[in-house]
Amino acid sequence: MTIDRTRLEAALDHERATHEQRNPTSIDFYKSADNLFGRVPMTWMNKWAGGTPMYLASAHGNRITDVDGNTYIDFALGDTGAMAGHSPPATVAALARRAGELGGITTMLPTEDAQWVAAELTRRFRMPKWSFTLSASDANRWALRIGRMVTGRPKVLAFSYSYHGSVDETFAIVGPDGATTTRPGNVGPPIEIGSTTVAAEFNDLESVEQALAGRDVAVLITEPAMTNIGIVLPESGFLEGLRELCDRYGTLLLIDETHTFSAGPGGCTAAWDLRPDIFVIGKSLGGGIPCGAYGLSEDVARRAFLHTEADLVDVGGVGGTLAGNAVSLAAMRATLGDVLTDDAFGPMIDLGTRFNEGVQRVIDDSGVPWSVSQLGARSEYRFASPAPTNGTEAARSGDEELEEYLHLYLSNRGVLITPFHNMALMCPETTAQDVDTHTELFRSAVAAIA
Ligand code: PMP
Repeated sequence: MTIDRTRLEAALDHERATHEQRNPTSIDFYKSADNLFGRVPMTWMNKWAGGTPMYLASAHGNRITDVDGNTYIDFALGDTGAMAGHSPPATVAALARRAGELGGITTMLPTEDAQWVAAELTRRFRMPKWSFTLSASDANRWALRIGRMVTGRPKVLAFSYSYHGSVDETFAIVGPDGATTTRPGNVGPPIEIGSTTVAAEFNDLESVEQALAGRDVAVLITEPAMTNIGIVLPESGFLEGLRELCDRYGTLLLIDETHTFSAGPGGCTAAWDLRPDIFVIGKSLGGGIPCGAYGLSEDVARRAFLHTEADLVDVGGVGGTLAGNAVSLAAMRATLGDVLTDDAFGPMIDLGTRFNEGVQRVIDDSGVPWSVSQLGARSEYRFASPAPTNGTEAARSGDEELEEYLHLYLSNRGVLITPFHNMALMCPETTAQDVDTHTELFRSAVAAIA
């Protein structure tokens, strides 16, 4: 079964018109936002389907209400920032206590919460030494600096179409001629990407070995499964192969679990027994309060402190004034201690399976050439079958028109998935009924165009 493009165009026009009818207040706000660059607080908010984002009124658990009074079952969950659900009460109470009752939002002084959070991160992800940031982008940036320093090497290996935040070194792809080139759309790159980065393809150990063989790569940065160009799962032996190649060529392995934390309380690192040298996480740890963290192995931490010339305590390029602030740490402690607990993950992952199976049934019944992949509490459909095995293939399967139609079809009927590709995430408040609501809408959306 194929997609009928004529029907798709007509259906998309209809959904765009419905979006306009349902969101008059949001659209008025958008049109009057003359002093916002791109008319939105952050330019990526223009990614929401329909061309104008809904303005937020309130959000609790997995429900969002917009300023026009529309309510949504939210599977976007702030693209993982709200994996604990919106405004989880335990996190809100800890924030009120730290910021209000006790006081001291940002003082540059440590709080005891930091030690609790670091010990908990060690229990979950096994890395013995932690440092805190306000975003996963920052954690990656600072970790890459440390990796370059301790190895004395200049370069980073990044996979084609990976995403690790606004980290200059990672906007690299393998070009058609096999050479590393800049990812399309890269905004204002500081220098030619090949001088900082070697690109390789995910699930292709040969391309990784080629990239590492020059022994000038300090850090190989990767998610354990790609999640930012759809989900691309690692093939059997791939992650073990990365570890072996990094050992062989003296490169540090950085595992970024900012999204793949959905795999379980210890992410893929615990679930799949990974052994990174550097570990990065962000977004969800603080229930949506800005935070991030990088973990270092004993060996990397020790080697970093051998560099007595390195200015790790002032203006050496690792750190931010507000990083590790008391509110951020209080949010992380409450979220890890009371919300995203070990026990919370089982039901979330079961719902991820239910979501994935529901979508797979619709794909099978309708015969559309699509696939769906699951990573614990996260599921994502892609307009390709079989599922892409690397970033380049995944990028090729993008279909903007189809994506906008599906997103609008869902949002016009009260369901949100991420504005970037087709990701759905389960939080502790998500229910089986919410998942089934999506499945039924997905079924009727496909039926209208296939
Ligand atoms: N790493 C990964 C794997 C991500 O998906 C993202 C954001 N999508 C980041 C890092 C950056 O996170 P932030 O935008 O919070 O800095």
